[in-house]
Amino acid sequence: MNKVAHYLQEHLIGEVFTSPDTRSYFSTDGSILRIMPSFVVYPRNENDIRKTARFTWQLAERGRVIPITARGMGTDTGGAAIGTGISLVFPAHMHKVLELDPKSGVVAVQPGTNFGMLQQTLHTHGRIIPIYPLSSEYTSVGGAVANNSSGERSGKYGSARDYVKSMRLILANGELIETGRISKRELSKKLGLASFEGEVYRKLDTLIEENKEIITNMPQLPKIASAGYALADVKRRDGSFDLTPLLVGSQGTLGLISEVVFDSEPFNPETTVMTATFSTRALALEAAQELAAISERPAIIDFIDKHLIEDVYRINPQLLKDVIDPPLPEIMLYIEFDDASTRQQKRLAKKARKIIEKHDGFLAIANEEHDVDRLKAVRDSMATMWTHVEGSARALPIIDDAVVPIAQLGALLSGIDDMMQRAKQAVYGVSGSALSGAVHVVPLLDVTQIGDRQKIFRFIDEYYALVISLGGSISADHGDGRIRGALLEHQFGATVTELFKAVKAVFDPYGTLNPGVKFGTTLDDVKLIVRSDYSARQNLQHLPRV
Ligand SMILES: Cc1cc2nc3c(=O)[nH]c(=O)nc-3n(C[C@H](O)[C@H](O)[C@H](O)COP(=O)(O)OP(=O)(O)OC[C@H]3O[C@@H](n4cnc5c(N)ncnc54)[C@H](O)[C@@H]3O)c2cc1C
Repeated sequence: MNKVAHYLQEHLIGEVFTSPDTRSYFSTDGSILRIMPSFVVYPRNENDIRKTARFTWQLAERGRVIPITARGMGTDTGGAAIGTGISLVFPAHMHKVLELDPKSGVVAVQPGTNFGMLQQTLHTHGRIIPIYPLSSEYTSVGGAVANNSSGERSGKYGSARDYVKSMRLILANGELIETGRISKRELSKKLGLASFEGEVYRKLDTLIEENKEIITNMPQLPKIASAGYALADVKRRDGSFDLTPLLVGSQGTLGLISEVVFDSEPFNPETTVMTATFSTRALALEAAQELAAISERPAIIDFIDKHLIEDVYRINPQLLKDVIDPPLPEIMLYIEFDDASTRQQKRLAKKARKIIEKHDGFLAIANEEHDVDRLKAVRDSMATMWTHVEGSARALPIIDDAVVPIAQLGALLSGIDDMMQRAKQAVYGVSGSALSGAVHVVPLLDVTQIGDRQKIFRFIDEYYALVISLGGSISADHGDGRIRGALLEHQFGATVTELFKAVKAVFDPYGTLNPGVKFGTTLDDVKLIVRSDYSARQNLQHLPRV
């Protein structure tokens, strides 16, 4: 054990690991990248996190930077959960629901808590945090918050940022702070603090005041966008101030979350589900826009595009039986109503049926429980692609994230087809939400082949340029990480990117918190850390729902 690891083990209650096996395990996440940490720490409590941060801060003051990469379950697809230095792994010990008020639905949890388990706990009290990442069964709360996660219901309910009330956060120097909206008067008190917390408030407030115009004129991205830092909602017109919206989506680059307090919504397990297939995308997307405009909008309008339908049909046609049969449609919509009253759901489903029929859609509505399961299974069968292997080609998470205004979905889908045709890319899947505008594209590529490796970077360049040109955000529910972080300047321009870097410097003056994530990594750097043994191994336990 090296000196640093030895010192930490002496001072922490949690474990410190240096073995090659452990380091190798934490050298990968859900991305195609690999970075080996120097050692791995399992904090047992808040004090362990504080001591680890304080120690790296003191070393950094003397010129030695040992980065800390916060880690939940490591499913991040942009390489945000890997780094050199210390991998600080929360789920091992810090996985408890601390407090739950069944009346208000407010719940306080430790960051390593499994998100799916938290939802189940809430369900028993008739509540839900409706951001629902597809991967929630095997992700942590800390990861979901740090990535501003969103999911199937986010078009109606929003993303993590809409449900995090406050958090406890360890700053880069080990200080513990509590966030939450504070009044103008409370802000003045914070500004007067002699601590690092005071310095953070002072410097951030000055930055916001000096850059008001830039912040106000920042590109208006779709609601669930996660690119960069969410500066706009920190200081409101009434002078109130809250660090929470900034920290949600900050990917461990501004501080280490040690507790999260969430709001939740009432949960109705009985939903009305329908799927509709269409012979053209244009008709489906028109229908989706009309469906989204129903006053009590659906909770979910997911779409699955023809390439993905064709791929699943080729891989396992039984999965689609009776819902999607040949001739295969151009696109399928999956729609779900979750209103509290079942009568209201039925009324809305009737409206939806009319809209779909008007657009020549072919409907399947679920009445019985087994029908609901059948339709959900068809939607979930699309997860088949994420873990599909052909030879040594796999579905790579490289252009897996983005969100565009829903009016631009058609243009985006056509652009994707053009891009794939030009690259002679035959196998790829596209799915997303016609309610939030989030889109996921997974091309099947072989990382060991030079031609396919070149395609990876060609797709990253072309796809995200297309997303930006359509007024979209390069990051929606998967975060910037290292891959999309390299494109932040394309998204926001040089001035806003410099402002983001200044925010980072306020919280992390020595660069100990997840350096290389969001900033400081170029696509050329990324090329050097692509791993040839990429697989979606960590997802296999959870098939078919990825
Ligand atoms: C197949 C697949 C499907 C996916 N679908 C979705 C989806 O539908 N919606 C969605 O939002 N995401 C999705 N993701 C991405 C990812 O699973 C989520 O963003 C997830 O919430 C990350 O949680 P995690 O515990 O795995 O975090 P990790 O991958 O471990 O970390 C993610 C980020 O959070 C930071 N972090 C973790 N814990 C802390 C902490 N305590 N303090 C500060 N920073 C911290 C890490 O440093 C890193 O930057 C998907 C991924 C895969 C592979």
